[in-house]
Amino acid sequence: MKIFFAYLLVLGLCLSGCSSPRAPSAVEVWARPNGKIKVLSTTTMIDNVVGEIGGERIDHIALVVGEIDPHSYELVKGDDEKLSLAQVVFYNGLGLEHGASLRYQLEHHAGSVGVGNVILEKDPHLILRQDGAIDPHIWMDISLWSRIIDPIVQALVTADPEGGEEYRKRAEDLREKMLQEHQRIYDELQQIPQQKRYLVTSHDAFNYFTRAYLAAPDETLGSQWKKRFDAPEGLAPEGQLSTSDIQAVINHLIQYHISIVFPESNVSRDSLKKVVHACAQKGLMVEISDGVLYGDAMGPVGSDADTYLKMIQHDANVLIEAWR
Ligand SMILES: [Zn+2]
Repeated sequence: MKIFFAYLLVLGLCLSGCSSPRAPSAVEVWARPNGKIKVLSTTTMIDNVVGEIGGERIDHIALVVGEIDPHSYELVKGDDEKLSLAQVVFYNGLGLEHGASLRYQLEHHAGSVGVGNVILEKDPHLILRQDGAIDPHIWMDISLWSRIIDPIVQALVTADPEGGEEYRKRAEDLREKMLQEHQRIYDELQQIPQQKRYLVTSHDAFNYFTRAYLAAPDETLGSQWKKRFDAPEGLAPEGQLSTSDIQAVINHLIQYHISIVFPESNVSRDSLKKVVHACAQKGLMVEISDGVLYGDAMGPVGSDADTYLKMIQHDANVLIEAWR
């Protein structure tokens, strides 16, 4: 009898363990035909908003996930399949996705929408430029990012007219929530004394953030707010710094009495280390913050920055903690 039960146990273990297939990946689940609209977004910041509006009517994933630089992202194995399966593709535009293979696909996909490009067409005055180049980091200002809701709803309704009412209802709820969060974060950051609200990070990802949350009210009318943000690297992380780039940041640190600089989650700290090192040689003590900012990527699942709104709140918290 004992042998019989032992046999049953082994058989049971084998049936449950030995022969069970591996769990399907998120992409495999997304790709299953089930009648839902298949939506692909380039960044997680877009994907998060799309998911809030689409709800259960859509299957959505992001293309660029984890600590990867969206500026220079090139297609990898499996991306072509995702792009051809997706009925709707949302991308940031404004020159963000400039990796040649991805850009080509985005420009030639029948269902692609560049959400930032739509804002540029409708309200060009809201879009910032740096030395003539368009600054693509529009998600760093929640009220500006809430403007991507309309083009997202429009594209989803075109693909799935029956869902129109549902999409519009969720879109209105989301817009209200985003504008409330925008105001709350603005109020929090404006509590910090003006002379402390000078931000230096690795690359030029925080211009919109600075204009929206760090500038004094009268500075946003002109370009006065610009003095409140600087970075050694340009609009896309470059890694290559000249001595004059470093010197320009040092001059800025001295001019505005800045003693702390902030690393970004998906950008190498090398340039900030070079700046801090060069400062130390001149007897200027500047530290790199322990708190890391999220600029071009959201945080990992389970972190305090794993949704778009949590990401912006995380950044505000890091600054409040460092500047208090
Ligand atoms: Zn960037």
